[in-house]
Order: sequence, then structure tokens, then C-alpha cells
Amino acid sequence: MFGECHAHIIMDGKNYKAAVGLHRDGVADGPIREHFAAWQQADVTFVRDGGDARGVSARAREIAPEYGIDYRTPLFAIHKKGHYGGIVGLAFNGREEYRELVRRAKREGADFIKIMVSGLMEFDRYGVLTEEGLSAEEIREMIETAHDMGMKVMAHCNGDGPARAAIRAGLDTLEHGDYLERDTLDMLAESRTIWVPTLAPTGNLLGCGRYPDEQVEQILRRQMKCVRYVFDRGGRLGLGSDAGAYLVPHGQGLLDEYALMKQAVGPERVPELNERLRESESWIKKEMKRG
Ligand SMILES: [Zn+2]
Repeated sequence: MFGECHAHIIMDGKNYKAAVGLHRDGVADGPIREHFAAWQQADVTFVRDGGDARGVSARAREIAPEYGIDYRTPLFAIHKKGHYGGIVGLAFNGREEYRELVRRAKREGADFIKIMVSGLMEFDRYGVLTEEGLSAEEIREMIETAHDMGMKVMAHCNGDGPARAAIRAGLDTLEHGDYLERDTLDMLAESRTIWVPTLAPTGNLLGCGRYPDEQVEQILRRQMKCVRYVFDRGGRLGLGSDAGAYLVPHGQGLLDEYALMKQAVGPERVPELNERLRESESWIKKEMKRG
């Protein structure tokens, strides 16, 4: 099986508040082991996490070898105070605090830096994000600062403006990337940025009743079209399911993601897709690792 390039071991695909709450009085190994067992069952031997604020992914990295899993983590994700990201990381207020968090991540052994630069999808309203995201200038500076310190960058990034700024700044991996426009998709396809479009969190909502299916379907269809567009133009794609997100179980989530990805590019091009996904995974394995 392919590696899981976008997971949240702190979450369980059901109820993130309850899942995070299990680690309230210190990291609990039980749920971590449960999730590793699920990956082992699905024959997943590589996992890249998005980090968390409670040291869960740091502990997971210690346990991972027992399950034959090569597990990478940014330790915590970094977000700007007052913006989205509190559930997975630490906040900064101003340039100096950001630099300090990057230094800290590096010092504590992060495999890469994870930044949050945009909002989330509103699944009940096609085309709408929970917030606009950071400015192009802020995004550029965040990526360049991490690169200057020798760290690769994974960015949670939705919306056209933030994505354009991030790709231009030489972002390493773009996560989600919903609602990109044609020019940005062209730029993405020509860039070295690996796109991890995380189709499963949207796809798995279909029929669940939490959101109107016609909105969810529009979101999914648009993203799959964009994946196809970038694939056709030779862009770099990565396989990551956002496992741990609502209705995306560890292990099974990656199979769901792969099924949607194959559907997006068309059955006749699966061999080429496989090759492209393997290439991206090898790059991530080689480059997004603590020094
Ligand atoms: Zn995520």
C-alpha cells in the first residue's frame, strides 16, 4: 500500500473533541496504538502526521517502529493567533514569535514545519471557507523563514489567494487546496510543490446526513476536476487522506482517498498515477525528516 501523507493520530474519525480529550491528563498510548494497528492492518508502513498541541504525535513517533511504521511529525502545527489551527498546534503573534516556534520545533526534533494559512471548508455551503486566510506577504515570509532554517514546509491551505502565495514562495507540500482557480492550478502543475488534495474527508460525508449532499457533492466534484487538471499537466500529487478527520478512519481512509484519486484521473491512467504518487512519497520520505 501507499504511505499515508496526511494524518492526525490525535483524532479518531468520529469525534475530535472526545478523541483529543483522551490525552487531557497526559498522552495516552492506548488510542495511539489502536490507530497504528489500523494502519498495520491496511499494510501502511509510512505515515506523515500534521502535529498537535499535546505531544501525542511526538509520543507516536517513539512507538511507531513497534508497528513497522516510519512515522513523521512536525510535533505541532503553527497558526497565527485568532486564526484557524488551535486544535492541532500553537499560535504566534508577530514575526518574532513565529521564528521562535520554528526554532523550537527544530530544536525538539520536528521532521518538518506544518503551518496553517487558511480556513476550513464550510461543507454545507459550496464555495465558502470559514475565513479568508493570511495575507500573501505573511505566507511568503512564513515559508521562507522555515526554509532559511533548513526545514521543509507542509501547509494547510485552502482558497486561491493563499495557495498562489504559498506556491510562489516555494512551498513543499500543499494540503487540501480546495477552490483553486485555473491560473493557480497551472502554476501548481509547473511548480515543484506536491499537492495532497485530501478528497476523502469530503467524499466520506456523502450520504451521512450531517450536510446537504448536493453541496458536498459539488465540492467533491470540483476538487476532483482540479486534481485531473493538475495531473494532466504533469503536476506532483501526493496521497493523504486527512485520516482522523470526521468519517476518515486511520487505515481505511487511505484506501478511500486512493479510490477517489483513481476516479479523478480515470481508470486508464492509474499506472501513471501510481508512479506519480510513489515519486511524491519518496520525495517526502527523503526530505521531510529531521536532520
Ligand atoms: Zn489535516
